[in-house]
Amino acid sequence: MSTWQALEDQYYLRTFTRIPVVITKGEGAHIWDDTGKQYLDFLGGLAVTVLGHCHPAVTEAIKEQAQTLIQTTNLVYTIPQLQLAELLINNSCLQRVFFANSGAEANEGAVKLARRWGKLKLNGAYEVITALNSFHGRTLAMVAATGQAKFQEPYEPVPIGFKSIALGDIDVLKQATTKETCAVMLELIQGEGGVLSASEDYFKAVREWCNQKGILLILDEIQTGMGRLGTLWGYQQFGIEPDIMTLAKGLANGVPIGVVMAKEKASVFVPGDHGSTFGGNPLACAAGFATLKYIIEKDIPGNAKKVGDYFLAGLEKLKQKYAFITSVRGRGLLLAIEFNKEIAQAALMACLENGLLVNKVKPNALRFIPALVITKKDVDEALAILDKSLAGINV
Ligand SMILES: *Cc1c(COP(=O)(O)O)cnc(C)c1O
Repeated sequence: MSTWQALEDQYYLRTFTRIPVVITKGEGAHIWDDTGKQYLDFLGGLAVTVLGHCHPAVTEAIKEQAQTLIQTTNLVYTIPQLQLAELLINNSCLQRVFFANSGAEANEGAVKLARRWGKLKLNGAYEVITALNSFHGRTLAMVAATGQAKFQEPYEPVPIGFKSIALGDIDVLKQATTKETCAVMLELIQGEGGVLSASEDYFKAVREWCNQKGILLILDEIQTGMGRLGTLWGYQQFGIEPDIMTLAKGLANGVPIGVVMAKEKASVFVPGDHGSTFGGNPLACAAGFATLKYIIEKDIPGNAKKVGDYFLAGLEKLKQKYAFITSVRGRGLLLAIEFNKEIAQAALMACLENGLLVNKVKPNALRFIPALVITKKDVDEALAILDKSLAGINV
């Protein structure tokens, strides 16, 4: 055990099972550990560093903003948050934004907005229907929203007002909807849940059902947004528009930020209803503005699509080669492979040894969420390491 690992063991609350490596530096698609060993990073700061590590466009914006104004307060106007708001609105189907500091916090804001909607338009309806196997964050309310018992059981009782249903069957949603329902909150692809999804027809039917009932559709695009699926927003690939959308992860390329976006008709907050000390602060928003501007101007979603398709085809080839790979799935650069046994940890450790960082999303599945600026050459290198690593695993 290195000194740093020993310190973690001694001081940190025991919340993480960490990959045994101390990362000290990152540049583009690569990171380095404290011994100087280089890794190709297909974990991407957990789907955050969309432009790669320390991208010059973002680093410059952070440096400049850090020398100008880091924080004041939402009691006054600040320019970076308004520039980022305008860029988000001009490039999406939504009309209003609120800035928070993380994904869970953005989802909290979305649910509060939906409850305001329920109070004003639906006789006090307050319940939000979510999907089984979803992930919406770690605050108490978002643990309740997350459709996975393992996140809830340690903290029971969890807040009321959430109900989780199986994804993919519109009749199940229809039956779950009651007079207490104010919104449906879904991920287009369940990233933390193992890269699982439902059909475009299903999402279109959900959209129609929400319209019919006057309930809001919240899309949690915290992981699928910012070009990850090969379009700037995931909803563009599913032929629907949300009433509320949340973003976080990739928006500021690593600086903490979260966003609630809403259609004008769903923007029912009034002054005092919601707030944040740090949310929308100049530093995070300058980083967010630089990141989003670069993503749009350089068509980074186009690269995610092109390189993602190439990567998916390569993973399919590995599936032909290894009988223990049972599924290859995902869109753009949100991809996963599933095994018929719980060998994801062994595969992760072998990849690490061979210079590739990946994510064990389930005991039997690996997820790949690299920077969206990676090249086919990076993918070739990752596939070669993965091949070599899987070849060495005893199954
Ligand atoms: C990561 C994630 C969250 C939580 O974001 P935090 O910043 O960790 O709070 C919520 N929803 C989805 C879909 C995510 O991928």
